[in-house]
Amino acid sequence: MKIFISADIEGVAGVATIQQLKTNGEYQRFRQLMTNEVNAAVRGAFKAGADEVVVADGHGNMSNILIESLDKRARLVSGNNRVMAQLEGIDESFDGIIFIGHHGREGDSHAVISHTLAGICVNEMRINGKVVGETEMNAMVAGDYEVPSLFISGDDIYVNEVKETLPNVESVVTKFARNRIAAELIHPDIVKQEIEEKVESAIRRIKDFQPLVLDGPVTFEIDFKGPQQAQMTTTIPSVKMLTPTQIAFTCKDMVTAYKQMWACVIIAIACTNGITGSVNA
Ligand SMILES: [Zn+2]
Repeated sequence: MKIFISADIEGVAGVATIQQLKTNGEYQRFRQLMTNEVNAAVRGAFKAGADEVVVADGHGNMSNILIESLDKRARLVSGNNRVMAQLEGIDESFDGIIFIGHHGREGDSHAVISHTLAGICVNEMRINGKVVGETEMNAMVAGDYEVPSLFISGDDIYVNEVKETLPNVESVVTKFARNRIAAELIHPDIVKQEIEEKVESAIRRIKDFQPLVLDGPVTFEIDFKGPQQAQMTTTIPSVKMLTPTQIAFTCKDMVTAYKQMWACVIIAIACTNGITGSVNA
């Protein structure tokens, strides 16, 4: 049995503010806590009978997890410029996906450090009219590969958000959000124990989970923070402007739509302060 783990850091137990995650701040502490939580999920997976676990590091530059501290049985996808972003390495050979340390969506959420892929440019994303965060869209991509979403962990608001889309997913609440930059924390050792147990129990009943499959074409709408970001995404032929800050496009399936969404976000990031501001030319 093969298990994929998509790991982020904002939802990890102990993290309460974005300042803690800056590389000149307390980042080293929190990347260790992130690695520890991933290890708890890896232990649970192997206890439940997994014989292969691949972890995709999915925060910031996507190289946060400390390989020397990672459970030796897991393999790690680390590093940047990934076409499949937080899901780099997933395919139909996996039996289930687990989300560790993920967070609430930008827009209507008070979850801790809520955002959708890039806080610098994205206000809200909708798929076929429904507001989604990162976990929901990742679950839909996994669904295209017939991989069911088994487990999520993050703050209480995040868990409730995701359960609107994945009502049966197993979950662990890692902290209680007070607002976007404050949380009531739970000791990481307690959270790790719970993650290990619940990942194990979720995988033991893996037959209860169905892949989240979108039938037919997939329409993405993205609300950007500024028109200078939205407008340049129309360099992709099928992208249409809805308003000066909103765009939409339709693709034949979720994997194709996810890649195009990611292209739009990358363009928007590059255009935030003008292209020449981010390119040495
Ligand atoms: Zn992140």
